[in-house]
Amino acid sequence: MTALETAIAKAEGYLNRFRKGTVPHLIDGKPDSGGNGTFETLSPVDNTALAKVARGGAAEIDRAAKAAMKAFRTTWNRTSGEQRRDILHKIADAIEARADEIAHIECMDTGQPIRYMAKAALRGAENFRFYADRAPNAADGLSLPTDTHLNYTLRQPIGPVGVITPWNTPFMLSTWKIAPALAAGCTVVHKPAEWSPLSAMLLAEICHEAGLPGGVLNVVHGFGEEAGKALTEHPDIKAIGFVGESATGSLIMQQGGPTLKRVHFELGGKNPVIVFADADLDRALDACLFMIYSLNGERCTSSSRALVEASTYDEFAKKAAERVKKIKVGHPLDPATEIGPLIHARHVEKVLSYVNVAQEEGATIAVGGGRANGGHGNFVEPTLYTQARQDMRIAQEEIFGPVLTMIPFADEAEALSIANDVRYGLAAYLWTRDVGRAHRVAQQVEAGMVWVNSENVRHLPAPFGGVKSSGIGRDGGDYSFDFYMETKNIAIALDNHKIPKIGG
Ligand code: NAD
Repeated sequence: MTALETAIAKAEGYLNRFRKGTVPHLIDGKPDSGGNGTFETLSPVDNTALAKVARGGAAEIDRAAKAAMKAFRTTWNRTSGEQRRDILHKIADAIEARADEIAHIECMDTGQPIRYMAKAALRGAENFRFYADRAPNAADGLSLPTDTHLNYTLRQPIGPVGVITPWNTPFMLSTWKIAPALAAGCTVVHKPAEWSPLSAMLLAEICHEAGLPGGVLNVVHGFGEEAGKALTEHPDIKAIGFVGESATGSLIMQQGGPTLKRVHFELGGKNPVIVFADADLDRALDACLFMIYSLNGERCTSSSRALVEASTYDEFAKKAAERVKKIKVGHPLDPATEIGPLIHARHVEKVLSYVNVAQEEGATIAVGGGRANGGHGNFVEPTLYTQARQDMRIAQEEIFGPVLTMIPFADEAEALSIANDVRYGLAAYLWTRDVGRAHRVAQQVEAGMVWVNSENVRHLPAPFGGVKSSGIGRDGGDYSFDFYMETKNIAIALDNHKIPKIGG
């Protein structure tokens, strides 16, 4: 058997359990198929059904939110930080032990290549370990004494929270949201994306087997406008941690308005990689190609716009084109595959719709622009648009596929103006050997995160998030606790201050 055949057989083995019946919700620690019917999750390889999944609605969300409230009040909020730490470490152990299963399921459900997904499962474990170690100190606050009072602060979990995640790298992203929420002492209702719901079940199962009490993490599957909307409107849910499209973020803000939801949004991006002619151009090219063509280009921090200094533009574009032509499109479980099938036929249509747009707007399609794999499944060619202008839709809109738009610039001022002339502001990448310029541009570029002479290398204590239409709030380190916790001030009088008297 080839490596691919072995991996497919293994994935089939892992998938069997999901094929036996309906993949249920998990509410109050128990599988629950609800009463709202089912939907199918499809394989991006050939669009056949992988599994039938329970379709949650308002009733299932209500049960899950009430279970989360009960668990918050009776169990999790009373569990010490040390106990939470120990359980979260056990979850991380179990994720590591089942990393192979998680990776195979994730590849089959999302189309992401195994070369990235194997690491994504382990990064999920890392997220749990990182926040496990912080759980005992999550409540820490300040001492703010005056002559008459000792003010001190402490942080307390906000209550049950909703976590709504997208389909691109669902396991890793879910752990990123759920681990700090649990470490903070919050209980969770998770609504995974309807296009890739399977790994959320594995995570919930792992959490419970590791000792997380029932009701602390609930999963309700279903559609955004149904289960997702009900979650954002539920009065017992105090905050929504959301990762997804900017337009959905706006809807969630409106839906959460009547119940005054606190929101944390990780949204879309159209991230520039700015390449100055004095940079190490080989490293810049490696990083630029990696950041747009890895993870199928379905990546919020992808370097979807390459802004290249005019004096080096032609050579950089030529080298990029040669490399993009060699990128291997294939089955997600093939270890050689660099780009797998996109998540869904509807997403393929969206990504390919930009080919006509690019042509009409006058950009050059230097590489790709069509379907791959003979048109079977959701495979598309890695695509490179060159000679693009900033006013083109391919330079303004998030395509969210393996598609790079390359734009020349004349000088630093023009590079910054192009970089900032989009509604998004998630990440920016700068390539230059000029230290002064690196700092100047990094400070002026409108982005929540800037990497200089680097691709996206995540450091968990560092803040992650965007500005403009790319998000509200920061994940990572203590920033996540700021979202999942409320700061309480307690003032203790030293019994020496004058209390004003009224009424005689
Ligand atoms: P999406 O907004 O369509 O869906 C995300 C989630 O929101 C899904 O679970 C969906 O069911 C739910 N949803 C949809 N409508 C809803 C509603 N009215 N109320 C409540 N929930 C609702 O996004 P997607 O297509 O799944 O994911 C791709 C997007 O995610 C891209 O824009 C990408 O940039 C973004 N993303 C951002 C980050 C980041 O960290 N900034 C990370 C990954 C992905």
